Amino acid sequence: MEQTTQPTPKKRILSAIKPSGELTLGSYIGAIRNWLAFQEEYECVYCVADLHAITVRQDPKELRRRSLEQLATYISSGLDYEKNILFIQSHVPAHAELSWMLGCYTMFGELSRMTQFKDKSAKNADNINAGLFTYPVLMAADILIYNADLVPVGDDQKQHVELTRDIANRFNGVYGNVFKVPEAFVPPVGARIMSLQNPESKMSKSEVDANGCVLLLDKPEDIMRKFKRAVTDSDREIRFDRENKPGISNLIEIYAAATGITREETMAQFEGKSYGDFKPAVGEAVVELLRPIRENTERLLKDKGELERIYKEGAMRAAHIADRTVAKVKKKIGFIV
Ligand code: ATP
Ligand code: MG
Repeated sequence: MEQTTQPTPKKRILSAIKPSGELTLGSYIGAIRNWLAFQEEYECVYCVADLHAITVRQDPKELRRRSLEQLATYISSGLDYEKNILFIQSHVPAHAELSWMLGCYTMFGELSRMTQFKDKSAKNADNINAGLFTYPVLMAADILIYNADLVPVGDDQKQHVELTRDIANRFNGVYGNVFKVPEAFVPPVGARIMSLQNPESKMSKSEVDANGCVLLLDKPEDIMRKFKRAVTDSDREIRFDRENKPGISNLIEIYAAATGITREETMAQFEGKSYGDFKPAVGEAVVELLRPIRENTERLLKDKGELERIYKEGAMRAAHIADRTVAKVKKKIGFIV
């Protein structure tokens, strides 16, 4: 008899970015670019996390524009919308539904310990809403609803993936093996891109400091200007030392990530060179990295009909998986389904 081997199912990946501001170089190097590498080997689900964006007040018109622009950027960065599932989070209501249920298996104390909650509530003191606090529960729902094996995130989101694992284990402990317990994937280089003006704080799209933040769709001359003005130190050595030389270390990290070499190779390449040589070189590397993305995004945004077709199809495929998980969870909890 002929022997047939079952192909092993592909592992699944879930990741998301919230449309809370214009995408930055940090969003690209810390997230989107890593997604590209996964598309052959994994089944990938990538979303525009608009539900997450409203933990901070958003202008409706801007939110709509950015959500669409973000989807276009995913595609123009090289994500194949047929191979991957690309969708807008609010189009799949099951996320919010599972989030409520998981919230009842998440402790107040756990959420209180989240550093992002502490950071964001300090920065939005006039709007410390419950959504800001329960954000990690929705993120856990995003991940667990697809039975994701792997969650590629930047360094800043590692704690939330840890919490997701705790919630999954807790739920599984009560009801048996319902959720896959996911792993975080944090890239070795570019896990945390810092502001060019304030290299002690993360480059973040919701706190754009005009010169410190490089936007994904920035024009080349703006990128060059920002890098030439990047804050460094009074020393003259191009050496990686996060603690004592945060500005230069960040530039080394960015150059390495943009050109695909290591920090050590970057330092060797610029040995004996001045900051005046190094800063524009990093700028040029970033200009070349981002040029095709900007051009493709501009082209894609001209065809709104095509984008609509893509996000509708994506939401349908996502809901197909998500609805099944929610039905299973409801049954386990004891709801009448
Ligand atoms: P916000 O300021 O609204 O929180 P953000 O810039 O932090 O926006 P998120 O949507 O929170 O972006 O995160 C999207 C993904 O990008 C996450 O995986 C996060 O870890 C990663 N990421 C965000 N900023 C950076 C950064 N500066 N360096 C590396 N990765 C980053
Ligand atoms: Mg963030």
